[in-house]
Amino acid sequence: MSRVSVDEARELWLHASDEELKELAQAARARFHEPNHATYMVMRIVNYTNVCVAQCDYCAFYVLPNQEGGYVLSREDVFAKIDDLLELGGDLVAFNGGFNPRLPLEFYCDLFAAVRERYGDRVEFYALTIAEFVYLADRAGLTHAEAAARLREAGVHWVTGGGSEILTEDFRRRHAKFKYTVREYLEAQRAIVEADLRTTATMVIGFDETLDERLEHLQRTRDLQDDLLRDGHDGLFSFLCWTYKPYGTAFGGREIPPQEYWRWIALSRIFLDNVRHVRTSVLTQNEDAFRALDYGADDFDLPLEDEVTQKAGATIELDLEALLAVPRELGYTVEYRRAERPAAQLA
Ligand code: SF4
Repeated sequence: MSRVSVDEARELWLHASDEELKELAQAARARFHEPNHATYMVMRIVNYTNVCVAQCDYCAFYVLPNQEGGYVLSREDVFAKIDDLLELGGDLVAFNGGFNPRLPLEFYCDLFAAVRERYGDRVEFYALTIAEFVYLADRAGLTHAEAAARLREAGVHWVTGGGSEILTEDFRRRHAKFKYTVREYLEAQRAIVEADLRTTATMVIGFDETLDERLEHLQRTRDLQDDLLRDGHDGLFSFLCWTYKPYGTAFGGREIPPQEYWRWIALSRIFLDNVRHVRTSVLTQNEDAFRALDYGADDFDLPLEDEVTQKAGATIELDLEALLAVPRELGYTVEYRRAERPAAQLA
């Protein structure tokens, strides 16, 4: 299958049937993965603080500094959550919070070093999202390269591509004008990879973004991956797309239907021909997420907690066996996947 242009992708989105999209996505998936086989992780998002100055209008999670209800988790709280995760058979933690002006980069480096020291390789953790990373580097007056080096010294292996939502400057001006620009986001992501840390690509759909904005997001992701691979790096490990939850947010709106989500997963798989893993979001789609395996996804998380999306309406099923029965009923074998250590750090 040859590379699909933005115009061809637009045509597919507007005119291809579900069956056509599925067929193309399955062919693209088969370049990397066995058909009818999927991988998963059991993970917990640890929201260490809900204090944030970014004020994204699609967020129901944050409170401003000095507002009632703000919190910062203690180290004991964090350890208790990780212990709980281990007990339930999971081994992946994703730290995610707000842009809290009282917490400098060193606070996080100390926390990550303590987690690494206490748990060693028993858990892997996504230290921050790119969005938080940009904020912390900026506050510390460091370049992205310098901040990435600090994280690496603290034992960090991964910084996820979270906080990208829709990567167009106009979308950010409409919804998240205090967050950062697309240019800053992509520069930071490159710096993370160049520091031999691993990172991922993400996308959130279902706000008021146009089709062209969604396509621009995919184009930017594919271009970045081309550049990273050309320069000899590991590149973006995966692409995870989830859906906006509107409840309790200033922006409001409605949820998109599952079928739209599945079709977008298919188009992403077809377009992102240089990204190995396309991940489906159980956190925001629940059991409907598994149908996306038929549309090109190959991997998923089973989350135990994420206050950010739960505050906006996400619900979490803790009966993991009941959840895993769904992809099995769809005809997939499922296999637990451990987070990979960056190859450059193993050398
Ligand atoms: S989405 Fe993240 S950066 Fe934006 S307001 Fe919420 S916590 Fe802050």
